[in-house]
Amino acid sequence: MSRVHITDLTLRDGHQSLIATRLHTEDMLPICPQLDRIGFHSLEAWGGATFDACIRFLKEDPWERLHRLKAALPNTPLQMLLRGQNLLGYRHYADDVVRAFVQRSAEGGIAIFRIFDAMNDTRNLRVAIEATREAGAHAQGTICYTTSPVHTSRQFVAMAREMVEMGAQSIAIKDMAGLLTPSATRGLVTDLVEAVDVPIHLHVHATSGLAELCHWQAIEAGCRHIETALSAFAGGTSHAPTESMVAALKGTRFDTGLDLEALQEIGDYFREVRKKYARFESAYTGVDTKVQTNQVPGGMISNLANQLRDQDALDKFDAVLVEIPKVREDLGYPPLVTPTSQIVGTQAVMNVLAGERYKAITNEVKHYLMGHYGRTPGPVNPIIRGKAVGNAEVLDCRPADRIPDEMERLRDEIGALAGSEEDVLTYALFPEVGKQFLQQRADGTLVPEPLNPPQAALHDGCPAPVEFNVTFHGETYHIQVTGSGHRREDSRPLYVTVDGLPEEVLLETLDEIDIMPGAAAIGEGGGKRSRKEAPRRATRPGDVTTSMPGTVIDVLVAEGDTVEAGQPVLVLEAMKMESEIPAPISGTVKKVNVSKGQAANPDDALLEIEG
Ligand code: MN
Repeated sequence: MSRVHITDLTLRDGHQSLIATRLHTEDMLPICPQLDRIGFHSLEAWGGATFDACIRFLKEDPWERLHRLKAALPNTPLQMLLRGQNLLGYRHYADDVVRAFVQRSAEGGIAIFRIFDAMNDTRNLRVAIEATREAGAHAQGTICYTTSPVHTSRQFVAMAREMVEMGAQSIAIKDMAGLLTPSATRGLVTDLVEAVDVPIHLHVHATSGLAELCHWQAIEAGCRHIETALSAFAGGTSHAPTESMVAALKGTRFDTGLDLEALQEIGDYFREVRKKYARFESAYTGVDTKVQTNQVPGGMISNLANQLRDQDALDKFDAVLVEIPKVREDLGYPPLVTPTSQIVGTQAVMNVLAGERYKAITNEVKHYLMGHYGRTPGPVNPIIRGKAVGNAEVLDCRPADRIPDEMERLRDEIGALAGSEEDVLTYALFPEVGKQFLQQRADGTLVPEPLNPPQAALHDGCPAPVEFNVTFHGETYHIQVTGSGHRREDSRPLYVTVDGLPEEVLLETLDEIDIMPGAAAIGEGGGKRSRKEAPRRATRPGDVTTSMPGTVIDVLVAEGDTVEAGQPVLVLEAMKMESEIPAPISGTVKKVNVSKGQAANPDDALLEIEG
């Protein structure tokens, strides 16, 4: 059998890689009858970041998306991407949650589960593979491809063998960053084809411009399953175009047998659809050959750029790209994929912004160093580990072995807000955003993030600018307000583009103009300032400061407490990561200037300690 089979990725990885995972189900359904007639090996249509994006931005029920896609695609196997024990979230879940999730996904119509672990720790794949087989679906084991002094083809082959022994029915090479070269592909595929009896699938991103060459070499070496995206959502940080590969193989012994003209019609449909999502296009999704030297995947590049812009530190971008491989080395060379890409990336940003490496260490890095994500590929830097977690115990078991069953607790917690087991799982994966989604659905207040800039004023009867330039610290940004979301407690999200890149800004109301005079009495003091006053600028050695802006998650000490230098006194969240801020000196806490939930800015004296 020489025929090459194609998995099309447009409905998941295509839009995840190019328009920030924003494709709505309504834009998928009209073309499903045509997609279903093509004869793809499978359509990757669920998992990865789509679940999160559905509840966070699109305000769609991801389970309902699955059911509707399955109904519209009765003849084509649906495939999903699953992060092993992390499912579609960012932490390890208990085994009963993994089993329930896989079971429900299979019932919902997923036929093929691609299962990976960011550390390539096969222990984190076992339960998901077992559950997939029990549900009667196809379990695909995944090698997260990366290069480093500790990664060899031999290790990848050993990993593939182990996954097959665990029950994997095929093996995927997942090259999320686009690091594969044609010769490396040929070598790895040759070794794998020889070592295991199951089909080998190649998932290679086009970031470095080499995807088509890699596919060709893989096919020559015996790979019969390649993954592509329709040309409208192909290229750059996405994948090789489906139509191009079908054309390339046509008339050869590898002919896919797919109808090129029918594919081109579908491509035209998606080309039109993509225009609606113009506000999510970014400057960082094109071909970037630097990935071959800095190893930073495309998705991570645009995230980093956004994060650095938030810190007013875009000029540090190149320094961060140099720092990332160093942090990766210190952590034992994890492949850079969710969630390790975020863990390494954020620590690198902190190292650069603080002007001193590991001056502050995120809690996620600490957990990583204590083995909470699994076995590291190579040895970690013992000095960094000592600095981060002292001689705390390092787990040598599978992390989930330490997590007791959770489903019952989760069912109790979410209570009547969950109308089904699927809803309980939504809450399990995303305790905050998921709960908010379920609440808004119950209240009938789900409002999707808008696709188009509003034409009208922001506030009834109070015209406000929707497009303007703003200058901060000598740098000018072009801002366009594209919409505003539903009010949450005392804040509301405002959707803007900053120099063309989409951003969600949370506006916290501190003082409001009473637009209906007489309707409400304004209390003494004239405003509603319940928060502490802004802290003064840090000037003394005992002032506790942060190197990057964030939100105070916890204050660990009270005024009058005695603290040791280095003792954590505050927990701060910045860039989705928590970190502890240590006391700069030993002494007594004289003043606490911030409270839980408050913003913390660099140079503020967050706490004052007297030596
Ligand atoms: Mn991918």
